[in-house]
Amino acid sequence: MYDYIIIGGGILGLSTAMQLIRAYPDKKMLLVEKENGPARHQTGHNSGVIHAGVYYTPGSLKARFCLEGNHATKAFCDEHDIAYDECGKLLVATNDLELQRMQALWERTEANGLERYWLTAEELHEREPNITGVGGIFVPSSGIVNYAEVATAMGREFEAAGGEIRYDTSVTGLSERTNEVVVSTNQGDFSTCFMVSCSGLMADRVVRMLGIEPDFTICPFRGEYYRLPTQYNQIVNHLIYPIPDPSMPFLGVHLTRMIDGSVTVGPNAVLAWKREGYRKTDVSLSDTLAMLRHSGIRQVLKDNLRPGLTELKNSLYKKGYLQQVRKYCPSLTLADLEPYPAGVRAQAVSNDGKLVDDFLFVNTPRTVNVCNAPSPAATSAIPIGAHIVEKVKQQVEPTASP
Ligand SMILES: Cc1cc2nc3c(=O)[nH]c(=O)nc-3n(C[C@H](O)[C@H](O)[C@H](O)COP(=O)(O)OP(=O)(O)OC[C@H]3O[C@@H](n4cnc5c(N)ncnc54)[C@H](O)[C@@H]3O)c2cc1C
Repeated sequence: MYDYIIIGGGILGLSTAMQLIRAYPDKKMLLVEKENGPARHQTGHNSGVIHAGVYYTPGSLKARFCLEGNHATKAFCDEHDIAYDECGKLLVATNDLELQRMQALWERTEANGLERYWLTAEELHEREPNITGVGGIFVPSSGIVNYAEVATAMGREFEAAGGEIRYDTSVTGLSERTNEVVVSTNQGDFSTCFMVSCSGLMADRVVRMLGIEPDFTICPFRGEYYRLPTQYNQIVNHLIYPIPDPSMPFLGVHLTRMIDGSVTVGPNAVLAWKREGYRKTDVSLSDTLAMLRHSGIRQVLKDNLRPGLTELKNSLYKKGYLQQVRKYCPSLTLADLEPYPAGVRAQAVSNDGKLVDDFLFVNTPRTVNVCNAPSPAATSAIPIGAHIVEKVKQQVEPTASP
């Protein structure tokens, strides 16, 4: 019998496990992951940006945890000798409409408590000779890291403190009883006093295993990238982001310096026809039918038909993709876009057809389940793990908590 079982070997599961064992060093803990190692899904297929907290609604969990997570991630990397680079980020406006939107972002960054600088077109050009724009915002605290490395280090710390990790162990059923939770897997059943799930693209399915009908479903959005040839590794000095269209849920195609020295272009956001489908050709009939049957997803598709079709067109025609980045980096050509692996985002969609904006948790007496943790959840992994540990404390020691 375990005291705690954590489902999911992505950065959230591993951060939670590491912080749970710090809080309860004498307890017996197990983390189960269906793949053969850590960080095989979102955590290992992302832009690697340590976000500063520019975009998020003031007062939201995203705004709070991102700001805290930015500092906590860098401190964790310092402690564990993990390379990161605080290279800063530039948000670039390319026309008058974007300049107006930039003003709104400027106000939001103030409300979110960020250090940032307004740049004129000349100042922008001075910082980034290869980038064209009519103005920009410079945010110095944004950085880059390899989140798979961060997650792996968290797993090492958990194991060193006595925690157990079982890979190739897929959870197939859950039964919550008065005194325990039984976790059924392809490797047998395990019982535990308390369970935490951080199952990313499978979050709704894990909640359903508990016998709860969630009021959301996970909609997978593939984020496709290209990489620039190595001679362009110095093309930018910062992370270069467009000014996002407020009606779009994702940030727009950006130029990202990666911690290995390369520069990627992306990601876009196209509906994936398979939850863990990384290639354009990956289709799962059962995932597709489940998506099309969900009234919330149908509503999202209807409400976002035009931008959705544009994203799809730009995914299929490299020229369209290139145009998005040429708006602010005009020297790039089709030949400069080299293949790079995609990622798939787990985005919760509510039954009434909204993309769930903030981080979302579903709790039962003996479980805490992370149900919506899109970007900036990798940046926010340490505060999210701390928040889960607090929730667990409140549930297992109700009288000891405030
Ligand atoms: C394209 C893209 C770009 C992004 N860029 C950034 C960025 O620059 N900065 C940032 O902060 N965030 C970014 N994000 C978001 C970030 O990567 C995720 O928010 C974060 O990795 C979520 O971590 P997780 O542990 O919840 O999910 P995951 O890493 O997906 O882990 C979930 C784990 O649960 C396991 N699992 C699921 N079901 C079961 C089961 N039944 N049994 C056992 N195991 C199971 C899975 O195998 C998986 O390993 C990006 C995401 C994507 C996709």
